Amino acid sequence: MPAAPRRSSASGEHRLAEPPGGADLEGLRAAAAGCRACPLWKSATQTVFGEGPAAARLVLLGEQPGDREDREGRPFIGPAGRLLDRALAEAGIAREDCWLTNAVKHFKWVPRGKLRLHQSPGARDVASCRPWWEAELRRLQPRALVCLGATAAQAVLGRDARVERDRGRAHATPHAAATFVTAHPSALLRVPDEASREAAFARFVADLRRAADAARDGPQGAPG
Ligand code: SF4
Repeated sequence: MPAAPRRSSASGEHRLAEPPGGADLEGLRAAAAGCRACPLWKSATQTVFGEGPAAARLVLLGEQPGDREDREGRPFIGPAGRLLDRALAEAGIAREDCWLTNAVKHFKWVPRGKLRLHQSPGARDVASCRPWWEAELRRLQPRALVCLGATAAQAVLGRDARVERDRGRAHATPHAAATFVTAHPSALLRVPDEASREAAFARFVADLRRAADAARDGPQGAPG
């Protein structure tokens, strides 16, 4: 297991990631594997880069990989990923048609006994990693981008973005013809009672469906 992280890092440990300019998605993936632009790589197993087809019209941007993603090197394969898979299926979206990625590409965690507990990435972590997802989106040029949770929403729409206020409609960004905001699937896992969890899941599916419509129909679903 990688070394437990230190609780804080000197500001000098953060700089902007530098994706190679002419690289395609696989070139970006290879370069990101060696990224050392912020301290998160030190306590993670590996970089978890985005995955999906280069022709994907729909991109899902999450926060950061979790414990299982860190071990296996793929995004959205843990409990939150399974919930996302179920929601995608219900929204009529094939996961294999989407590009799935995260705003931060290394797992940030704190030790709790034998467990590695998720720790939200800080603003400097997100800022350091930003060039990677921007480079992914420049190559993909998707019709629709879905920000899953506040970290992704704020990375794309700015610090004032709020999931509950900003979901349910398309936003104009330079990254996709239409950008949407919704909850992170891990937040749905934490909803305590079943009725509320089902309601939250239904809203999540409706948000994904909206994005799928924009990805399929192009400008119709884009912000006016
Ligand atoms: S989290 Fe992002 S910026 Fe930091 S080392 Fe990993 S890939 Fe690089």
